[in-house]
Amino acid sequence: MSSPTVGFVSLGCPKALVDSERILTQLRAEGYGVSGSYEGADLVVVNTCGFIDDAVQESLDAIGEALAENGKVIVTGCLGAKTSEQGGSLVAQVHPKVLAVTGPHATAEVMQAIHQHLPKPHDPFTDLVPEQGIRLTPDHYAYLKISEGCNHRCSFCIIPSMRGDLVSRPVGEVMREAEALVKAGVKEILVISQDTSAYGVDLKYRTDFVDGRPVRTRMTELVQELAKLGVWIRLHYVYPYPHVDEILPLMAEGKVLPYLDVPFQHAHPDVLKRMKRPASGEKNLERIQRWREVCPDLTIRSSFIAGFPGETEAEHQYLLDFLTEAQIDRLGCFVYSPVDGAGANDLPGQLPDEVRQARQEAVMAHQAPISAIRQARWIGRRVQLLIDGVDTEEGCLIARTAGDAPEIDGLVRVYPDPNSRHPVTVETGQFCVADIVDSHEYDLEAVYVSHQ
Ligand code: SF4
Repeated sequence: MSSPTVGFVSLGCPKALVDSERILTQLRAEGYGVSGSYEGADLVVVNTCGFIDDAVQESLDAIGEALAENGKVIVTGCLGAKTSEQGGSLVAQVHPKVLAVTGPHATAEVMQAIHQHLPKPHDPFTDLVPEQGIRLTPDHYAYLKISEGCNHRCSFCIIPSMRGDLVSRPVGEVMREAEALVKAGVKEILVISQDTSAYGVDLKYRTDFVDGRPVRTRMTELVQELAKLGVWIRLHYVYPYPHVDEILPLMAEGKVLPYLDVPFQHAHPDVLKRMKRPASGEKNLERIQRWREVCPDLTIRSSFIAGFPGETEAEHQYLLDFLTEAQIDRLGCFVYSPVDGAGANDLPGQLPDEVRQARQEAVMAHQAPISAIRQARWIGRRVQLLIDGVDTEEGCLIARTAGDAPEIDGLVRVYPDPNSRHPVTVETGQFCVADIVDSHEYDLEAVYVSHQ
């Protein structure tokens, strides 16, 4: 008899992806079959995103499609936590035929709903699940979620109302997961959370045990432990609190990737105050300068919001001046858009759409030559790359430098050296060494040197 099969649709950010991986791991542990399509599935789980209005629509459409194609649908994720204007579940109101709705990080509730509508199989041999669980990323990199929720209340964000306050995973548990990933062949671990710098605050930095040794549940100590694993460690969502300085020496020593994803969102102190941003009082330009003094190779990624309510022309110009000074390597800038339920919606000085749009374009245009200069500094360097794939048509490897996170940053096209008789002997998921020979707006070109 074939196993009952669950179709799975995973939408949203890396944090939602980790929730999906947990549910998939549990499904496989209990002997369910998992399908990437509706066909052949006895029931479909849709993991949704509710962050911005476009994501809400995409999630609602995906649920509608799953209902039409399959009929038995369970909804989880951020959109599941949203209420309609009448006060009930928004999803249940739009799609009353869904079988169950849960919020994010609710593996137990999702499994309970699945058991109710698709009883679990009884086969003791099917609970053979790999120790590292089921992952949705390629085999060679993985996201490691170190905490849930957030203690801040940024005025444009509704994540805390959907995911609650910060709940950190004890460092021993995080390290066991990281070690299992490395054992399974993962070469790059991407640390994610809503606020990586705040890791452990809720646990009062409690001491836990890693391989029998006492270690505090705190960002610096976690990073020191991860650095011992011998794989690429990349840090995302790091707010510029003073203790971030403690990890820069590890980056300079090559133990952790010299890469920081710091979502500044703006530069002007008054806008940051209206945004209620964490670490808004920090002197960010001085911090960046000091970080680069300690670790000259540091790549900084950041995101900004243009046209926030009340943003004056002078504040917008202040942001442009900040970008000139900060020389951020990788930058995303979003047009401010009100999110249902966010405090910023009630702020005075909401700007017309055209102004917000024009300011976003001005930020991107201002940053373009800065990014180009930052990219060009790679030319002439011999670097270690991680190979993500092969482009057979172009005849090159697709790889990334330490300065490129998967999916959001650029890539490196690595061509064989026409003057070398050494064949290219590397595969996806392995490291190689290459000489960077050219740079474009986001991507780089390189010539293969050796397998590492
Ligand atoms: S730090 Fe701010 S933007 Fe980020 S999750 Fe927390 S409240 Fe939202």
